[in-house]
Amino acid sequence: MSDRSSDQAALQALLDFHVEAGVDCALDEAPHDRFAEAEAPRPPARPAEAPPAPVAPAPVAPASKAPPAPRALPKAAAGAPEDAAVAARELVRQAGSLAELEALLAGFDGCALKFSAKNLAFADGNPAGRVMLVGEAPGADEDRIGKPFMGRSGQLLDRMLKAIGLDRTDVYIANVVPWRPPGNRTPTPQEIAICKPFIARQIELADPEFLVCLGGPAAQNLLNIKDGILKTRGRWFTYRTEAGREIRALATLHPAYLLRQPLQKRLGWRDFQALRRALDGRA
Ligand code: URA
Repeated sequence: MSDRSSDQAALQALLDFHVEAGVDCALDEAPHDRFAEAEAPRPPARPAEAPPAPVAPAPVAPASKAPPAPRALPKAAAGAPEDAAVAARELVRQAGSLAELEALLAGFDGCALKFSAKNLAFADGNPAGRVMLVGEAPGADEDRIGKPFMGRSGQLLDRMLKAIGLDRTDVYIANVVPWRPPGNRTPTPQEIAICKPFIARQIELADPEFLVCLGGPAAQNLLNIKDGILKTRGRWFTYRTEAGREIRALATLHPAYLLRQPLQKRLGWRDFQALRRALDGRA
């Protein structure tokens, strides 16, 4: 094998390794230790009245082998997650409609996921539907298209809905976190906390009769429960909006989990039958 083709084979093997490990987008040229960065002392806050600091010229990289300086996160995303969550809670109060909420979310810079995602995946389906389904976070297909549940999980969800006589014109669909976490990792508790005011307001504005939490993260975060989804699935809970309205909420298995564990599909189907009975006023 020539040097060139053995280099290519090595590069291909490395690429295959990354894809299998779930690394499917490049964020920066060098790894960062975000834990160490988060612990580094923060510069003192500037007084509110102070004029903006002059913009420092970008440092010129020395010709040595020193690693490139870490890319600065966008301003709001670089702040403390608690501040971003407070900002989100204040912001959502301004939204009087789902369209306004989507516009506010699109302009919100408090969650760093926004800056690695291609698109905001706010919602799909019919906001006037009797049922609202909430998943965890968009994956690659949802990120590309800008709507929740567009890929294989979405196709399975459509089949489950069809089995109880529903389709996307009958239901409204969203996610706890509306931007794709890189490599489809689980959103961190901080990311969820920052995005939670938005999904809470989205539920309040859509005002469904039934809320279906797809998977553990949606159920735990929306219903404030600690138990895992295998224990809570099929059970009805009460979701309380900020304004105090009570919505019947069902926890069920996530379609992505059912794709990985097809034997569990019967449980998912059972839960959707329970939803059908509730819609028909039989439960
Ligand atoms: N999984 C989710 O939780 N949401 C999506 O939109 C897609 C996959």
